Amino acid sequence: MVQIDAATRPVTLLGWPIEHTLSPLIHNTGFRKQDLNYLYTASAVPPELIGEAVTGLRALDFAGANVTIPHKEAVGRYLDDVSAEARAVGAVNTIVLEKKGEERRLFGDNTDVAGFIEPLSPLRERIQGSDVLIFGSGGAARAVAYALLRGLAPSRLTIAARSPGKAERLADDLSPYDSGDVLEVRSLANARPQVRASRLLVNATPVGMAPDTEGTIWPNVDDFSAEQVAYDLVYRPRTTRWLREAGERGATTIGGLDMLIAQAAASYRHWTGRDLPEEAVRQALRTRTPE
Ligand code: NAP
Repeated sequence: MVQIDAATRPVTLLGWPIEHTLSPLIHNTGFRKQDLNYLYTASAVPPELIGEAVTGLRALDFAGANVTIPHKEAVGRYLDDVSAEARAVGAVNTIVLEKKGEERRLFGDNTDVAGFIEPLSPLRERIQGSDVLIFGSGGAARAVAYALLRGLAPSRLTIAARSPGKAERLADDLSPYDSGDVLEVRSLANARPQVRASRLLVNATPVGMAPDTEGTIWPNVDDFSAEQVAYDLVYRPRTTRWLREAGERGATTIGGLDMLIAQAAASYRHWTGRDLPEEAVRQALRTRTPE
C-alpha cells in the first residue's frame, strides 16, 4: 500500500473543465499496482493561468503532467523542449520534469501519436501501404494523420470533414511529412468512394459519444466490408453505433479505449520508466465505461 509522504512524486492533469477524465483512475491504478510512490490528481486550470500552472510544475518538483482541452496547443511555449511528435502535431499532452544535477527542465510529448498506432500493430501487414480515411479535422485527427503518415505509409490519406477549410489547414501543416503526396481533403458529402476504398477508417470526431449514442459519422452501412478496419477514438460507450455497424458487415473493429490506455501507457513510461499494468487498468475502467 503506497503511503503519501515526503517522497511522493505528484503528477497532475491540466484541463478546463476536468470533471469527466479517466486519467486519475488509470494512473493511480498503475501506481498502486506497482507500489510506486506517485500520486495523480486533476487540476482545473483556466486558460489565463496555464503559464503559471506549467512553470509551477518545475518549481514544485512534480514528476510531470498530462495536458488536455483547451491547453494542448498553449503549453509548448512554457517548455524547454518538445518531441518531434509534439512539434509536428502542434500540441502537447504530456509534460515530464527532467533533472540534470540542479537543473530542472520541462519536456513535452504528444503520446496520442504512439497511443493511436499501438493498437494497430497486430494489423500492420493488412493496412500498411493501403488507402486510409479519417473522419474529422480536430486535434485528435492531427495526431492520427501524423501517426499514419509516419507509421503506415498509406497510398492515400483522406481527411473527410464537415469543415473542409479546417481540414485543408491540417493537410497544409502536415505537408512536410507527406513525401508521397498522399494527403487529400474531402467534404463528408463527397467522401463515399474513399470510404469504400479505404482499408482503415478512423472516426476522430465525437459523433456517437454518450449521451448521443444513436449518432454515427457514417450511416451508410453498405460501404463497410470485411477487408476493412474501423477504428473509433470515442470510448464512451466502448462500442459505438458506428463500430457496431461496421463490425456487423465483417470489418475488424478497434474501440477508443485501446488508444486511451496506450497513450496513457506512453505517459506513464515517461514519468516512471515502467510499463503500465494494462490488465489491472482495463479491469478498473470496466466499471467506469459503459459497454
Ligand atoms: P476536436 O478538436 O473538437 O475536433 C472534433 C472534430 O470532429 C472536428 O473536426 C469537428 O468538426 C468534428 N465534428 C464534431 N461534431 C461533428 C459532427 N456532428 N459531424 C461531423 N463532424 C463533427 O476534438 P478532438 O480532440 O479531435 O477529439 C475528437 C474525439 O476523439 C473526441 O470524442 C475525443 O474524446 C476522442 N479522443 C479520444 C482519444 C483516445 O485516446 N481514445 C484521444 C483523443 C481524442 P468542426 O471542426 O467542423 O467542428
